Amino acid sequence: MFLSLFAKNPQKLDAIELLGHAPGKTLLVTAGMDGDEYAGIAAAHEIARRFSSRSFSGKLVIIPIVNMPGFMNESSHNPIDGKFPKMLFPGNVNGSSTEQLVAPLAPHAFAADCWLDLHGGAITEGLNPFLWLHRTGHREMDSRIDQIVSANIADRILVESCQMGTKAAQLAKHGCMYVVAESGSRGNRGVVDVERHVRWAEAIMSSLGMIDESISRNIAAIVMNHIRYVIAPHDGIWTQAPLNPPINGGRPIAKDDVIGVASSFGLSRSRAITSPISGQRLWWKETMRMKKGDVLCAIGY
Ligand SMILES: [Zn+2]
Repeated sequence: MFLSLFAKNPQKLDAIELLGHAPGKTLLVTAGMDGDEYAGIAAAHEIARRFSSRSFSGKLVIIPIVNMPGFMNESSHNPIDGKFPKMLFPGNVNGSSTEQLVAPLAPHAFAADCWLDLHGGAITEGLNPFLWLHRTGHREMDSRIDQIVSANIADRILVESCQMGTKAAQLAKHGCMYVVAESGSRGNRGVVDVERHVRWAEAIMSSLGMIDESISRNIAAIVMNHIRYVIAPHDGIWTQAPLNPPINGGRPIAKDDVIGVASSFGLSRSRAITSPISGQRLWWKETMRMKKGDVLCAIGY
């Protein structure tokens, strides 16, 4: 086993490569794709630390901060061109700043058997932790998804079916399963949120046969298959409806429940924003600024 730290390119996409004691699958772990989601970044560092001295087979490639300009700006997006690296794939070395950021990531992803992308709520967002899996019609990968779901490794699991041309479908063509992990919110990187990310990474490694221990739980996961976004209708003031505890225990949201109130800047006009469906609140906006197009709440169902 050896540990090497190397700068990949002029965009300073620093990758940590760990080789296991025996040949096996390759797992790519990324974080900081959204530059203000810190629990994932802390977890990427922790996974690198633990597996530098722990036995496993195959190869771990860990990129703790993909969006370095966003990290330095404390924002999800890349401030240089205003784009979100997570929305662009496979990038372009001759493209915009964000396309150039993503471009060196693509070869790592295409060479991997699985890409685990660690996310959470942004500085402005609350979040209920969940694992986001993508069904692509690829038999081996879809059966691995079934295995992960039946192991109940997360309280909430979103299993989306992906259309051709999506990032997950492009990756599947190259034999890479795409998994997004969501844990932590509001700029926090508490132990519980970081450990959840680490445990999910171990569960993925277990499903790939990279480590021996099987990771499963007896608590049945809430499995969702779709996501619906409630979008800010205009610029103005956002007032979130009180979240009654135990929101983090997964209290579902019902159709027509009030999510919050959208107001004009002078508060002369206000209207309640309600949920279009019943489901699970996945993440939601908690801060005051409302910008047209903001996700006010993402609901899994
Ligand atoms: Zn994110």
